[in-house]
Amino acid sequence: MTMAFATKMLINGVLVDGDRHLDVKNPATGAVFVTVACGSVGQAEAAVQAAKAAQPAWEAIGWEKRRAMVLAIVDAIEARQDAFAKVMVLEQGKPLSEARGEVESSIAYMRFFANYALTPEILRDTAELKIALHRKPIGVVAGITPWNFPLLIPCYKIAPALMTGNTLVLKPAPTTPLCALMVAEIAAPILPAGVLNIVTDQNDLGPKLTSSPLVDKVSFTGSTATGLKVVQSSPTRLKRFTLELGDNGAAIVLGDVDIAKAAAGIYNGAFYNAGQACLAIKRAYVVESVYDEFCEAIAAHASAAVVGDGMTAGTQIGPIQNEAQYAKALHYLEVAYRDGTVIAGGSRGDGPGYFIQPTIVRDIHDGSDLVDQEQFSPILPIVRVRDAEDALQRANTSEYGLCGSVWTSDVDRARDLAARIQAGTVWINQHLHFALTSPRRVPSNRGSAWNGGTMDCTNIRRSAS
Ligand code: NAD
Repeated sequence: MTMAFATKMLINGVLVDGDRHLDVKNPATGAVFVTVACGSVGQAEAAVQAAKAAQPAWEAIGWEKRRAMVLAIVDAIEARQDAFAKVMVLEQGKPLSEARGEVESSIAYMRFFANYALTPEILRDTAELKIALHRKPIGVVAGITPWNFPLLIPCYKIAPALMTGNTLVLKPAPTTPLCALMVAEIAAPILPAGVLNIVTDQNDLGPKLTSSPLVDKVSFTGSTATGLKVVQSSPTRLKRFTLELGDNGAAIVLGDVDIAKAAAGIYNGAFYNAGQACLAIKRAYVVESVYDEFCEAIAAHASAAVVGDGMTAGTQIGPIQNEAQYAKALHYLEVAYRDGTVIAGGSRGDGPGYFIQPTIVRDIHDGSDLVDQEQFSPILPIVRVRDAEDALQRANTSEYGLCGSVWTSDVDRARDLAARIQAGTVWINQHLHFALTSPRRVPSNRGSAWNGGTMDCTNIRRSAS
């Protein structure tokens, strides 16, 4: 297959080569298939300066004109849907059907934000007093993204930031720069210079962006460990942060559950994108009355999974995205054998790519790293619990709090349990269902969030008259 790749960064309205180079590997083969531009410290600084210079005019141009330009970008992405999906498979590894789904979601998110008007909110309107709440741009936003959703996560940083009158410097993950560079190519002739800048790196420019005195807000999606560094990176300048970090989402399965439906739903919720999703199910707590039956049912799904190159028709699970994450996953596979009983999968691929068979681990307990940590790989530990309260208490011991799900035939009971799970999004008898308008915030003490959205790119001003 011959494909043309976008290889240039976007800085101050111009598509540019990098001062350095970045090799991009296909995780299905481990081989480099394209070399692209890689930014230097000077190029990152130039991008931030361009964003700073462009912001006042971008704010002044008004919502309608911003909307027209953002929608033009979306239309151009839509016109190249097929190319985006194929490039995504090559750089990220996911099956083509999942890649097509990600492209469609990216388009839907961008359109949603492009049409989202933030009109002043009237807080009080009496004969004596009128109070209105206005949302204003913050200024220059640095957007930093991970490798698991190389188009979706950049898109849901680009559209809200730009629509609210901010300018943006986007830095994609170094192992998946291609989709973002395609967006750069599309946006270059559409947007005024400096409004959107896209700079690649070798995992070293993030701190330059987050510590820049010209950056007013950081919208970061990635690991919790890096998120901590991000908030500590700007000791002399107060900034706004949106941190979308890791999770160890729990599924709770009760005794009255429909086993076949729960096994299918939890399998999909755990192994989507080969388990590399912040909102994936990463541990399951199953009450003892249905434990054996549930383990057997979900193991059947894992054993039947077709693992392979995402470009091959019929592939259901692709490779782990990069070598470093693969090493972590192989470590967790050892932990699975050490701390539990592997009843499906449990082996790595024998080729050069970064493959692991979807793995189900039973007879494992809290205290094992595979249960307590975010493994971010296709390995699901299933813990036996006494009852719903036991499960709830264990689910809530995590330091994370992004998501969870409850699986039972008793929806009232599920609602009660869901309300007591300390996580931002809790599903009942499903996992990974997304509606564009549903809020996706988490308890602030849990330091994790996803899809900060339009509101997070604005300052609030109150006017009283
Ligand atoms: P990561 O933290 O290693 O990298 C994320 C991004 O941060 C990359 O672009 C990287 O180059 C950059 N970076 C690295 N060091 C930095 C620093 N010191 N300062 C600023 N930026 C820096 O994460 P990853 O391995 O790419 O992604 C996987 C993690 O992302 C998982 O923990 C996953 O749960 C999380 N994630 C969260 C969400 C969410 O919405 N909550 C969505 C997707 C992924």
